[in-house]
Amino acid sequence: MDRAELGALVDSVGEPAYRTRQLMDAVYRQRVESVEGISTLPQELRETLAEKGVSIGLPRIEQRFVSQDGTVRYLIAMTDGQSVETVWMPEGDGGEAGDGSEAGEQAERFAESGSFGASGAKALSAAEPTAALKRCATQKQRPSKKHNDRSMDPSQARGLNHKPQGQNQDRSTICISSQVGCAVDCQFCLTALLGVKRNLTAGEIVGQVCAVLKDQEVSPPEDRINLVFMGMGEPFLNYENFVKAARLLVEEVGIAERRMTVSTAGIVPRIHDFGGERVRPKLAISLNASNDELRTRLMPLNKKWNLEGLMAAARAYPLRTREWITFEYVLLGGVNDGPENAKEVAELLRGMRCKVNLIALNPGPGIEFTTPGAERVTEFQTILRAAGIPAFVRRPRGRDIYAACGQLKRTVEIATAPEP
Ligand code: SAH
Repeated sequence: MDRAELGALVDSVGEPAYRTRQLMDAVYRQRVESVEGISTLPQELRETLAEKGVSIGLPRIEQRFVSQDGTVRYLIAMTDGQSVETVWMPEGDGGEAGDGSEAGEQAERFAESGSFGASGAKALSAAEPTAALKRCATQKQRPSKKHNDRSMDPSQARGLNHKPQGQNQDRSTICISSQVGCAVDCQFCLTALLGVKRNLTAGEIVGQVCAVLKDQEVSPPEDRINLVFMGMGEPFLNYENFVKAARLLVEEVGIAERRMTVSTAGIVPRIHDFGGERVRPKLAISLNASNDELRTRLMPLNKKWNLEGLMAAARAYPLRTREWITFEYVLLGGVNDGPENAKEVAELLRGMRCKVNLIALNPGPGIEFTTPGAERVTEFQTILRAAGIPAFVRRPRGRDIYAACGQLKRTVEIATAPEP
């Protein structure tokens, strides 16, 4: 419920307007778990709320898996027994500007210096590979055998990453889900294997954030938290609830708009709509292929909304000052990661105010593709940069606990599954 809806309800039962503020604060700032937690609320109003079917609470954290890198994958249960996954990354995911990560900070600097687009070529081709990329070259490719060991007792994980110190202070990022499962069927993504079970309500979307904030003992705006709508589901196929949730997160929870990014697989009509929203997180588009043939193979939704329509929507998108569109590109060994693909991507994006986040495939059982080697990733990045397109490599977070991009599958089994 947003403030206006709750206000109308409070008014309709003859309660003074300040009760609305009291309730909103209790839910979104103090994150109480039940009406009983609001000690100043008169008994009578509690009963009225219950009669009206209004319940207050947080979704329940069913399980936590903690990665070697500090990432926590939460399995969060909704009241109907369905569950989704939400990921806490204490140091960001190396992807979104504003998430405080190296790649994010670099991108912000480029945006500030106005060097996005063609003029960015010089600045960027001279740049050293990012530290994130170097790490990518040395990262462990295979998840640990003992996934099971990472399923922790709640008390062990709580506050584990509480208020990171020093340079990491701004990096904490929460990755949230918008649907139970996903209908989009991208061939490299584990969530796709679930199909879509249902949409989350706006309250459930925000509830994930509140549950994680409470668990990690952090509170925006004092603690800078970044948010990415990049978990399970396609936010633009649950558009109304997503937009409502984004407003609640800004207005009630206190997370700044510029610290949020929504990623879409490319639901073209909604990209047009989104440009007109009053509250609007930054936009990321999952490109993942350099031509229609390849994209249709990897993302069947390309049949309906092809690259021409997608690029037209991206070009027409009304960017604010210091804003750019992010294109995500999952690199699949020998499939879409060649120099010719990089050149095609450069052509597609020519002249746009954008950046590219490259993600080397995160593997998973049932996924037939392979993760390209670090040299291949660097070559792809170098070609884009030479063409004037800022390109960054997203560091995988929590691969060992199946918390990385494309690995969310809502299951406990997956964390105990044999190594892929
Ligand atoms: N449905 C939205 C939100 C999910 S975001 C979207 O598609 O944009 C998840 C990001 O992870 C997307 O950019 C997606 O392309 C990427 N991804 C999916 N599966 C992946 C995998 N196995 N490895 C790496 N990235 C993956």
